[in-house]
Amino acid sequence: MSNAPAVSSTSTHRAASGAATQFDAVVIGAGVSGLYQIYRLREAGFSVLGIEAGSGVGGTWYWNRYPGARFDSESYTYAYSFSDELLQEWNWNEHFAPQPETLAYLNHVADKFNLRPLIRFNTRVTAATFDANAQCWDIVTEAGATIRTRFMIMATGLLSATQFPDIPGIDSFQGKSLHTSRWPHDPNGLGGDKSVYLGKRVGIIGTGATAVQLIPHLAAGAASLHVFQRTANWCAPLHNGPIKPEEQAALKASYPAIFQLCDKTGGAFMHDFDPRSVFDVSAEEREALFEKLYTHGRGFALWLANFHDVMTDMRANKLLSDFVARKIRARVKDPAVATKLVPTTHGFGQRRVPMETNYYEVYNQDNVTLIDIRENPIARITPTGIKTTAAEYDLDVIIFATGFDAGTGAISRIDIRGPDGSSIKDKWSRELKTFMGLQVSGFPNMFMHIGPHAAFCNLPRCAQITVDWVTELMGYMRERNLREVVPTPEAETAWTRHAEAEADKTLLSKTDSWIMGSNIPGKPRALLLYAAPAPVFRQECKALAENHYQGMQLR
Ligand code: FAD
Ligand code: NAP
Repeated sequence: MSNAPAVSSTSTHRAASGAATQFDAVVIGAGVSGLYQIYRLREAGFSVLGIEAGSGVGGTWYWNRYPGARFDSESYTYAYSFSDELLQEWNWNEHFAPQPETLAYLNHVADKFNLRPLIRFNTRVTAATFDANAQCWDIVTEAGATIRTRFMIMATGLLSATQFPDIPGIDSFQGKSLHTSRWPHDPNGLGGDKSVYLGKRVGIIGTGATAVQLIPHLAAGAASLHVFQRTANWCAPLHNGPIKPEEQAALKASYPAIFQLCDKTGGAFMHDFDPRSVFDVSAEEREALFEKLYTHGRGFALWLANFHDVMTDMRANKLLSDFVARKIRARVKDPAVATKLVPTTHGFGQRRVPMETNYYEVYNQDNVTLIDIRENPIARITPTGIKTTAAEYDLDVIIFATGFDAGTGAISRIDIRGPDGSSIKDKWSRELKTFMGLQVSGFPNMFMHIGPHAAFCNLPRCAQITVDWVTELMGYMRERNLREVVPTPEAETAWTRHAEAEADKTLLSKTDSWIMGSNIPGKPRALLLYAAPAPVFRQECKALAENHYQGMQLR
């Protein structure tokens, strides 16, 4: 047993090896979950350091500055709920805030709670090794610094590891090329620089949620826009709008009710499934609900407030998919283009639904061309543009809206070694295994927020569950003079099998998408999110703490 001190509130400890334990916890990532974790640990009296690769706070909202980036969670359901003062002083201007507003909000949070001095910016973590004698992590940064900490908390993001496609000639392009989540910053504001595309010949690869938000902006400002689509996605209208000044007071008074509702629903949104089956009602009633949700339902309503079986029964799902297909055909004038925009590989909602504002109408514009690269694949990127098997397109700018190595990517891009030298990257390259999405067997004192197996929900609501849980566990260990916690392999396997069984119940697992890891060549196919309803996950976390962390070894 080492002589290293247990978790304490002093800032520098001496471990058995003689090396200084600089911090009780290092939190990697200063997005929504990292900021809250840093706040909670400091408030609980732990010494904590945040490490962030970016030059500022915000995570997703710091990096993704492409024009059109915004929530599809209602702003007021995404906000932190831990401080009533914060809720009351912050005015959201739109039901679905655009990225600059969200980034301003997260900067405000960092300043209000004085979190910035606890964070080392412009610092990328490249490696971490667990010292079994000292029961500590040694975290190594790109600049070569080593930081010793009792706990390492990965708030590195579900969707932060950018993914470029493996297309021949990708580096040969002589014009400007960029990934959507590395959009250049507007020197005068918190958003992205629009000069990237204004008046230019633009090509965009990808038609996921990101592209669907960005494309209407490109179409409005570019000289020409070529959209290279491999798989059409089912999109739904966002129905965003301003929050009028007279609505602010009512909204602020409703926060307790809003968060209570989010605590009850499966996705931690204000939407919940209609308990009726689509087959319980007449065709007219069915159509009336579809129409109401499509025409007026804000945000994810068409997806998450629909008949419950549209997301579990392919026959029910087909009725909804056919309805949305009719809407697409009604909005796109050229029937051949409309046909290409109607998905054929999956049903509505089997992939994360991109939310749109005037997306389909863009294809009625003369300066916009849809290129079906399933029919004619991209052969290569050339110095002057993109060459498919059918034609060559000259471009000034190529935008890669090609997504992320989700869930595992941000963590396995760090060379993380457990006490026996084994690497997390190797482990997950064989099979995705976690214990409740919180810990990984063989990697003691490492926690994850919104990583692989995160609850599939309005993410800040679920991050709050896991941050509170980790903070409570660290308090529990401090009280008992414990230094190390790790799930047993048996508990991890049991929980992983349970997560797989939950995944099997959904239609998400029956198609390809980043949610299944299938966008990354060689990644084992597994649902990267925990498909059970958010209240079930909350209850499981609570029960684990109440049962003194059964399935976890505390030493
Ligand atoms: P992130 O915000 O991804 O932050 C992770 C941080 O970790 C980053 O700043 C990154 O730089 C840092 N980091 C990673 N690796 C390292 C390293 N090795 N060293 C140092 N720092 C590192 N979710 C919703 O619920 N509703 C939405 O409306 C919604 N909209 C989204 C829109 C976009 C464009 C995207 C990409 C995602 C969206 N999401 C949404 C998901 C979103 O990622 C989460 O809501 C949330 O922002 C995640 O917060 P986080 O703090 O866990 O991770
Ligand atoms: P994505 O959904 O993974 O979409 C990537 C797109 O790139 C897909 O159309 C994909 O085609 C295409 N692509 C990838 N590799 C390709 C290749 N080699 N050749 C041709 N096309 C290729 O990524 P995303 O759009 O960035 O969205 C990821 C997630 O981020 C979303 O699902 C959502 O959770 C989150 N997000 C949220 C919001 C919001 O809430 N407002 C906005 C943006 C993003 P295939 O489908 O054929 O693979």
